[in-house]
Amino acid sequence: MLQEILEAREDRAVLRDSVADGRYITISLSLNIPGYPKSNKLIHSVFSEIVCSLLDYLLASRISFSNDLSINKEDAAGDFFITPILSTDLSGREVKNLMEQFEQEHQLSRLIDVDVFDENAMPISSGKEKKCILCTNSAISCMREQRHSMDDIRDFIKNQFEDYINSLRKNRIKKKMVSYATRALLYEVSVSPKPGLVDRISSGSHTDMDFFSFLNSSSALAIYWSEIAELAYNWDGKEHEKTLKDLRCLGIEMEREMLDSTQGVNTQKGAIFILGFIVFASSYLLYKFEEIKENPLREIIAFFNKDLVDKELLSTSEKSSHGEEVFSTYGRKLGGGIRQEMEQALPIVFNIALPYLNSFKDSNSDGSLVNDRLLRTLLLIMSENDDTNILYRSNLNVLEAIKIKSLECFNSEEDLLFGKYINLLDFCKEHNVSPGGSADMLSATYFIYLIQKERI
Ligand SMILES: [Zn+2]
Repeated sequence: MLQEILEAREDRAVLRDSVADGRYITISLSLNIPGYPKSNKLIHSVFSEIVCSLLDYLLASRISFSNDLSINKEDAAGDFFITPILSTDLSGREVKNLMEQFEQEHQLSRLIDVDVFDENAMPISSGKEKKCILCTNSAISCMREQRHSMDDIRDFIKNQFEDYINSLRKNRIKKKMVSYATRALLYEVSVSPKPGLVDRISSGSHTDMDFFSFLNSSSALAIYWSEIAELAYNWDGKEHEKTLKDLRCLGIEMEREMLDSTQGVNTQKGAIFILGFIVFASSYLLYKFEEIKENPLREIIAFFNKDLVDKELLSTSEKSSHGEEVFSTYGRKLGGGIRQEMEQALPIVFNIALPYLNSFKDSNSDGSLVNDRLLRTLLLIMSENDDTNILYRSNLNVLEAIKIKSLECFNSEEDLLFGKYINLLDFCKEHNVSPGGSADMLSATYFIYLIQKERI
């Protein structure tokens, strides 16, 4: 093994010579890993991440390099990266100083070695003594005195690397949650023309809000999806009461921000409720299993919404919300609304809407095509959903008529700008109703459609 490592190190010296080519300052990166093996899956993935951040750092320091002339290899001596610097106003010494700064500022500081060599492949040294990985002594003195056992050193490195990879993954998941949840909300309101709902062209059956109200609240909510993800990382997969309370606290804060941004109009209260749980469950599953499978996603949603109808609709005597009023008039089967859907882990979303959206194998980003697919997904949801928003503003006959008309439009080959569809738009306007519950489910469906494709 030692022989192989020595040979690999000699190869690196030759490589360094050829990359410098008598013309370029070179920068090389390796990890400071005592013992064997010098690389494995974890070490390699840490190394790849550091190469990326090193290259970002070079760009940010206005140092240009060539991807074509860079070499990235893994051998008996471990992972190794080298790149020639093509242009910079800095001297070799100044480049060395910058690279030391990079090392020091990095989360894995003492485990990283960034070396700088001049045009003749001679090392530019800082003359500073390297610190030990584990303690405050110099690395050389700890090595001579054998202050730490190899097992301790390797364990320490493994923990540091796992923490590093986990913190990167957390950040990536958070960014995806913010991006996709915001996109789902923006796409829902942008799909046009929609029956009774606010869209790009009209405010439908609403007089107190318009397209811009939704842009306001979607923006105001954006940062909170990241906070929900943070809650999910701290969840152990079992605890119920405290986590639910934390989620509800965030939800209440989000509603307040939403109202603040719209001068007091409720644009997305339902969406906060549904997406809140979906973002939580998705973040947890991605972090824990690197992918999102449908069954565990639904189980988590059901787990936190168990007996929700009983808790929130059955037990309240005063009917303060629309949902409560509709429930007292129509009962559980028809008037359970979104609470009932959540209790059952969103059957319309998972069994009907999502399979339809997933049936399109291409991920076409053409706007009018996306609009058409989402509009048809909405119609499919409307054809199944006993939307309490419609019941609240009208009655059962109107709801049934809308469900039938929606299914007819969905099944029709007709362009959605003509015939039957115009009739549905007129019908909703005439009865002054808006399928807000179905719209929330559309955002939820689209969010799951996006996030299910992620492997982080
Ligand atoms: Zn030490």
